[in-house]
Amino acid sequence: MKNYSKTKIIATIGPSSWDAPVLKEMYSAGMDIARINASFADFAELERVSTALRATSPRIGIMLDTQGHKIRVTGLDHEMMIEGEISIPNTFNITYPDLYKDVSVGTRILLDDGNIQLIVKAIQNTEVICTVTQPGILKPNKTVNIPDVNLNFPAIAEKDRADIIFAVEHKFDFLSLSFVRNKEDILAVRELIGNSGIKLIAKIENIQGVANFDEILSVTDAIMVARGDLGVEIPFEKVPILQKQFIYKCRQAGKPVIVATQMLESMKEAIQPTRAEISDVANAVMDGADALMLSAETSTGKNPVVAVATMQKIAKEAESVLQQSPIYGHTSAPEEVDELCRNLCDISESMKLKGIVVISNTGQTVLSLSRHRPNAPIWEISNSLERIRQDSLLNGVTGFFLKDLPQDRDECTQGAVEVIYAQGELDLNDKIAIISGSSIRHNTTDAILEIVQVKNVLSR
Ligand code: PEP
Repeated sequence: MKNYSKTKIIATIGPSSWDAPVLKEMYSAGMDIARINASFADFAELERVSTALRATSPRIGIMLDTQGHKIRVTGLDHEMMIEGEISIPNTFNITYPDLYKDVSVGTRILLDDGNIQLIVKAIQNTEVICTVTQPGILKPNKTVNIPDVNLNFPAIAEKDRADIIFAVEHKFDFLSLSFVRNKEDILAVRELIGNSGIKLIAKIENIQGVANFDEILSVTDAIMVARGDLGVEIPFEKVPILQKQFIYKCRQAGKPVIVATQMLESMKEAIQPTRAEISDVANAVMDGADALMLSAETSTGKNPVVAVATMQKIAKEAESVLQQSPIYGHTSAPEEVDELCRNLCDISESMKLKGIVVISNTGQTVLSLSRHRPNAPIWEISNSLERIRQDSLLNGVTGFFLKDLPQDRDECTQGAVEVIYAQGELDLNDKIAIISGSSIRHNTTDAILEIVQVKNVLSR
């Protein structure tokens, strides 16, 4: 097995990367999860790209990123200078028809990711008159952000509803939900997806998402720090601090966290990142992120494979100076599992364990363990490829597929170690930890930890 970084890499797939040979190279370079942005893909394209991804490797997790309540400029077929005073909808229109009902004098309206800024001066019937406070050239279809107002959107936009159903029916592994405002937004999607195992990732990218972070964290499976829109909706100088706070809270709760957007932005064109981008990637690793995301770098950029390889290289180097950092707080696992996992970090250091094997049942143990970022690798054994793909989001976790998990515990641990040994990860004299339920036959949630020498397990 290649020596990939513990920090996982999510790459957005688009015209630069959706052909099979490029996907293959990106996978070899260290892409763990492929993201498709629903804003730019119809069902035919989703079908084509996801089929190509599954053919590349059944280990690649597939994420659909919903469009969410994104407002855009509409009815503009040429670029125009925005300055002085303008009218919505007379100068240009936007895809939120109720604007005049929700804004008031003084409301800020940000166009093109905040590059053009307006302030509402007057509302006359359905017309909103604005003073341009930061002029600029507006191109068709650009984004509109209205950060200070609670806009009157339904919990799930119509396009999102159809995309979510598609993702569930096509057995995608993750749904990243844009512009999540509160826990109700997540719960509405949970109701829609029923008992599908798809994992929900709440993108934090507006004022409400920041204010309601704790309640969102309590109901989501994972968090994405979506720095693109976040840096438009809140003062951008606050984003690095929030990134650190969110990562810490996610680790406390045992929920994976992704840092996204503009990580290697210059590589859309260049073959090398800027020195500031290198530091950004390294710092996100040092902050303790589970995963880092590439957007335009791999979807429309010129060097998608090099971008993945570059992110790998920077992450690995940053990890080489990191120490494990045991953390308190309860996860969804039973208390005894949380305690065992935290203490195991110390044991694995003092006993110089080569790795920690987790025989996975509910998936709670790897969540509880990974959050401490132990130095030893975590090897998860599962008979579910879906579990292996979903847990590929977790820092330090590598999945191993064992089709039939023997019911007898000794046989099961032997089978698990054989699979890892066969991959060349272990020597016979290595010491490892193995965590499993106390009875595999009865699917128990309590845990047994054993510390063993590899040769003794293989000769069971
Ligand atoms: C972001 O805003 O940072 C983000 C990841 O969302 P999107 O790429 O969908 O705008």
